[in-house]
Amino acid sequence: MPKALIIGGGVAGPAVALFLRRAGWEAEIFEARPHPDAFGGLFLNVATNGLAVLDTLGLKERLLEDGHLAPYMRMRSGRGRILGTVPNGPAGEPERGSVVVRREWLNSVLREATEREGIPLTWGARLERIEETADGVTAHFADGTRATGDILIGCDGVGSPTRRWIDPDAPEPTYSGLLSIGGFARVEGLAPTPLTQHMIFGSRGFFGYLVREDGTVFWFANPARAEQDRDELRAVPSETWIRELRALHADDPYPVPQILDNVTGTVGAYGIYELPHVPRWHRGRVVAMGDAVHATSPSAGQGASLALEDAETLALCLRDLPDHGQAFARYQDLRQRRAEDVVAYSRAISRQKTVTSSKLAVLLRDALLPLFLRGAMKDTRNNHLYNHTIPWERSVLDV
Ligand SMILES: Cc1cc2nc3c(=O)[nH]c(=O)nc-3n(C[C@H](O)[C@H](O)[C@H](O)COP(=O)(O)OP(=O)(O)OC[C@H]3O[C@@H](n4cnc5c(N)ncnc54)[C@H](O)[C@@H]3O)c2cc1C
Repeated sequence: MPKALIIGGGVAGPAVALFLRRAGWEAEIFEARPHPDAFGGLFLNVATNGLAVLDTLGLKERLLEDGHLAPYMRMRSGRGRILGTVPNGPAGEPERGSVVVRREWLNSVLREATEREGIPLTWGARLERIEETADGVTAHFADGTRATGDILIGCDGVGSPTRRWIDPDAPEPTYSGLLSIGGFARVEGLAPTPLTQHMIFGSRGFFGYLVREDGTVFWFANPARAEQDRDELRAVPSETWIRELRALHADDPYPVPQILDNVTGTVGAYGIYELPHVPRWHRGRVVAMGDAVHATSPSAGQGASLALEDAETLALCLRDLPDHGQAFARYQDLRQRRAEDVVAYSRAISRQKTVTSSKLAVLLRDALLPLFLRGAMKDTRNNHLYNHTIPWERSVLDV
């Protein structure tokens, strides 16, 4: 059986391992983190197209066990005025809406499945170097260990060393100018928000939240800020973030200040980065997927779903084409345009979140947004995003 070394145990890694197993491959996963973290990475939106991939893996129902169905996003201004409601999924089909889950829940549902399949996963294995020979590829890890396989798949996220090995001139991710800061809270008397996420275009910053049936609040804010690296952001104490956000959102409507007064646990802060175009996704026996080749801002809620789509598509290509070279080329061909379109679409949404200091611009935005959003619930122009399906039974030769 041919063997794939999979670098990264986030979303794309376990998913591609599961699909490859079905396609007759052996797979082994290597993850840099020393262990899982139940609240690491906060939460994310899995869109209907990502749910379709999980359904093919037989994992959708398991994911929904700890998910908050959210087919609607209700927008309000900083004065509390309702600006409109937009679908978070295909317009006109609320029963097929997207779902918000803790990131680690998505990761663990995928990991549980790899364990059931007997696919090995090594924690604390940080890829440092790749070495390719005529008949194989070797991954060298920071702790001095190594592993050899027929191909190597980089599912190693936005900072991907695999991307750089494939093409030393590959573009670096660009910083969007926005942070995503978020966490959890419990606010006495705050009612659950079934089927809905709430988004507030505050006068000095964008804020989003939902309340689960058990009263847990998932919240995030997107303040504009100069770039800081991941370690610098991690070093900022939660109290500092909360203090800053309280000041930024002090004038926002209920329950924004109340959420910030009742945060539970630690606050996470992430820079939002994008990779709008990576020319080369593969070289020799090495290929990359997910954020490694098309990192997107979270505004469209599509990054994880794109990673899941990549995973299924690459496995199909390896199943249906005679060698890895042809499979990698076809995979990039099938995926690149869609991924880049989503990155661009998400960037356009992020721009609306960038707050201007001009009061006039805020007034104008609050006056115009209701007009733009008026027909959103019936506007099917984005349905192709959410309705994308990849039938496992169909050969990629027929696509
Ligand atoms: C704050 C925030 C909010 C987001 N919200 C959403 C959302 O609502 N909806 C959505 O769809 N997407 C969202 N995203 C994006 C989403 O998280 C990613 O698109 C998705 O996780 C991509 O999956 P991936 O497997 O490619 O990368 P990741 O999930 O990032 O996994 C990469 C893995 O590789 C590991 N790794 C890195 N380097 C190495 C190495 N050298 N050796 C071994 N392992 C390594 C990492 O530890 C990590 O576990 C958000 C992202 C952020 C930062």
